[in-house]
Amino acid sequence: MSRRPTAATLDILKRIIAFDTVSRNSNMAMIEWLQEYLESYGIKSSLIFDATGKKANLYATIGSHEQPGILLSGHTDVVPIDGQDWSTDPFELVEKDGRLFGRGTSDMKSFLAVVLAQVPAFSSTKLDKPINLAFTYDEEVGCQGAPSLLEHISSLPMRPRYCVIGEPTNMNVITAHKGNKRYRCEVHGHESHSALANRGVNAIEIAADLVHRLRSMARQRSEIGPFDRDFDPAYTTIHTGTIHGGTAMNIVPKHCVFEFEFRFIPGDDPLKYLDTLKDHARVLEEEMKGVSGDARIEFLFKSQYPALSTEESADITSLAKSLSGSNGTGKISFGTEGGLFQEAGLPTVICGPGSIEQAHKPDEWIYLEQIALCEDFMDRMVAQMRT
Ligand SMILES: [Zn+2]
Repeated sequence: MSRRPTAATLDILKRIIAFDTVSRNSNMAMIEWLQEYLESYGIKSSLIFDATGKKANLYATIGSHEQPGILLSGHTDVVPIDGQDWSTDPFELVEKDGRLFGRGTSDMKSFLAVVLAQVPAFSSTKLDKPINLAFTYDEEVGCQGAPSLLEHISSLPMRPRYCVIGEPTNMNVITAHKGNKRYRCEVHGHESHSALANRGVNAIEIAADLVHRLRSMARQRSEIGPFDRDFDPAYTTIHTGTIHGGTAMNIVPKHCVFEFEFRFIPGDDPLKYLDTLKDHARVLEEEMKGVSGDARIEFLFKSQYPALSTEESADITSLAKSLSGSNGTGKISFGTEGGLFQEAGLPTVICGPGSIEQAHKPDEWIYLEQIALCEDFMDRMVAQMRT
């Protein structure tokens, strides 16, 4: 029979799954609950608000502030359930056949629950080095909360030495992930009656030409690289996600807008692909302006997060390996806040319960055993950090 997590962990998980922290909503109900919970063990925490005051990151230090310790970090927000066919209430924890169902069970409230259930142990142990906790907002909409958290951390007299982010990796130690850059392209053409198509500039056709160019760049990456075989897929991917344009069959469309992204392996530079696309756009634009002076193509930056690449020889890599009982490390294609943490000077690995395969879907779930394995990780950590 598979192992069960403690009742304390399950109780906390049940409570935090019940907070509807879909990214577009405020996360304050959950943050206030977390703050009170920590307070009940005498732990003070700082809140770092967004501009609206409706969302906040939480940061706390348990133990001595004299030495740099370990940071345990995770996001509080979850992806929406809109249009998904759930067989249970997504905001109620339901147990069935060794699994727990609910939005955020894998991504990533189970990690948060394990960390929180350990707070009594953290606070009653005389820790040689502190344990820092960070809970962020808006990770799922482009890592929007982490930058202000990192600013707060860099202003502290004592910063953590390194960090573990508990995104779902089946408790494998992950040292690298791809980076992401997203853009929007707006094609402004020229309207005309479709019977006089030669007098218009067809924005949809121009956009299609650019999308086609992105597609051939994407194919080139899969054929000639650069490659990093530890990733799946082993190369930078390029993809167009949305496209909108046109109003009626008998009008040459004036507008077309599409959005695309680069998910790049560490060391590859997505800006050179963007430049290639822009060069091609300038050639098209010349042609367009031959028909109508105000026809043009515009590129707008949408969002980004950096790739993560932590050394195999880094202290945090060997520590996480020993705490999780794993020999090797891995690399993942999905993004996390880890690249931002690394950029801010905090060596970071990703290690958490559950699987990304179950995340973001209807009937999101996690094996109870995964949560128990994460508890083992924390138990070993407390034992190591005891004076
Ligand atoms: Zn996540």
